[in-house]
Amino acid sequence: MRIPLIAGNWKMNLHLKEAQALASEIAGSGGVAGTELVVCPPAVYLSAVIQSVGRSPIAVGAQNCWSESNGAFTGEISTSMLIDLGCEYVILGHSERRQLMDETDQSVNGKLKAALRARLIPIVCVGETLEQREAEETSQVVRTQMKGSLAGITSEQAANTVIAYEPVWAIGTGRTATPGQAQEVHADLRKWLAEQYNPTVSGTIRILYGGSVKPDNAAELMGQADIDGALVGGASLKADSFLGIAR
Ligand code: PEP
Repeated sequence: MRIPLIAGNWKMNLHLKEAQALASEIAGSGGVAGTELVVCPPAVYLSAVIQSVGRSPIAVGAQNCWSESNGAFTGEISTSMLIDLGCEYVILGHSERRQLMDETDQSVNGKLKAALRARLIPIVCVGETLEQREAEETSQVVRTQMKGSLAGITSEQAANTVIAYEPVWAIGTGRTATPGQAQEVHADLRKWLAEQYNPTVSGTIRILYGGSVKPDNAAELMGQADIDGALVGGASLKADSFLGIAR
């Protein structure tokens, strides 16, 4: 059975006190039964947020990592450093990083291998632009991203990976894929996983939807057979809306 996962991507938002307060408020709820909750603050606040969530069931993730374990990589953070802090998850290949920081399937693949070696749970993001959707290229685009990002990943490693389908046109725009549109892509991704690996892996991997998820559209999206949770941006910055989505 796939345990639902709701992950909050705080992006480059909030300052220290706000991040601590948000983490404490979410942790204070005691979580949501039967659902895993993860918050992903800016890297500089990971330690503080890990302290704020304390022993609550809320996990903490990073928004990125580097593929090498140490060395001359100014400004980067390795997976073992994230483990040192107490991180459990790491988001990889978010469309903002793909678009603004030149992240490629190849770089995501290197980071994914590093994350899995370190026993972090990676959340690998894929998704098409509006132009690609309108040109009916969605399946081809997300399959190509999956192929490149997961190259050389074994069945066992794949089973420990989370995928997030995030249509670029739905991120931070208030435009959400309809439950039917999202389900269609999730089912296609699961089919790809069955073809590349096996039915056990494709039945085990959690595939999250991301793109303007809010408390009032979460239930219908999460009700789809192949949607196992959400990667939430804007609505994860308030405890009420983040917990509302999870509930
Ligand atoms: C995201 O950044 O991953 C995201 C889905 O953002 P939002 O929920 O704001 O669309």
